[in-house]
Amino acid sequence: MPLKRIAIYPGSFDPVTNGHLDIVERASKIFDQVIVGVTDHGSKHSLFSIEERVQLFRASLKNPRITVESFKGLLVDYAVKKKACAIIRGLRAVSDFEYEFQMALMNRHLSQQKGDIVEIVYMMPDEKYTYLSSSMIKEVFRLGGDIGRFVPTGVQKALKLKLL
Ligand code: ADP
Repeated sequence: MPLKRIAIYPGSFDPVTNGHLDIVERASKIFDQVIVGVTDHGSKHSLFSIEERVQLFRASLKNPRITVESFKGLLVDYAVKKKACAIIRGLRAVSDFEYEFQMALMNRHLSQQKGDIVEIVYMMPDEKYTYLSSSMIKEVFRLGGDIGRFVPTGVQKALKLKLL
């Protein structure tokens, strides 16, 4: 049987935006299965709980090749456990590059140490999402701006319940 090619799309997704959806749909055209791995960053305080972030992402999808779950710990350990051959990350602008480059090389080093090679694949979203981030959405929403074009409807409702 041919090998099933699995990719992990990790992030905090606090909350999911149309930029994240753009990337994960692109990735699903290249891989047989994409697992969205929702996680916490030590340095980031999140608005939504990890369960809420998983639910919001799940409710925004209709693609059977994409599944959503949470994980804890090292990304490469999670990727190996899931038998993934790749990690997907989105690249918006040059400002993402420095951090992503460091993270990619560290993850490559860690995965080589474990004897498994997990490639990191960068994808660019449609240009209309280039300046979109979860933190920008939260800020604009708090200030009363219209975020309708940038997030799924479920997220807009969840933000209203959480922040208004
Ligand atoms: P993290 O805290 O791990 O960066 P995020 O939820 O902010 O988690 O982002 C997850 C991934 O999605 C990252 O690779 C990030 O660069 C990418 N991403 C975030 N927003 C966008 C967007 N508007 N377009 C494309 N990729 C994006």
